[in-house]
Amino acid sequence: MDCGKFFDVNFILESEKIPRCDCGGIVKPDVVLYEEPLPNRTVEQAVKAIADADVLIVGGTSLNVYPAAGFLRYFHGKHLVILNRDATQADSMAELCIRDNIAEVMEKIKVC
Ligand SMILES: [Zn+2]
Repeated sequence: MDCGKFFDVNFILESEKIPRCDCGGIVKPDVVLYEEPLPNRTVEQAVKAIADADVLIVGGTSLNVYPAAGFLRYFHGKHLVILNRDATQADSMAELCIRDNIAEVMEKIKVC
């Protein structure tokens, strides 16, 4: 978190305590945690990809937490699919809603 050095997952798995870099900084997974801001470039790329998409599959989110909840307004494509265990506020906009466990559903999807 201090110097920006990357480590593979084994470094974290093999750490007995909080994984630390040579520089003394904490090594954390490269994910955005709650209350951490998304990098601006990531937001810009997501908005552009959503704005250009014909199909958007939104999965594993209640759509109650921003900024993810706000990304839907950039979608102007034809087919919106919502895959979430519980109903969301955007279900009425979707062409297809799948209310199930996202991990189990995604395991069954095969790309042809
Ligand atoms: Zn470091």
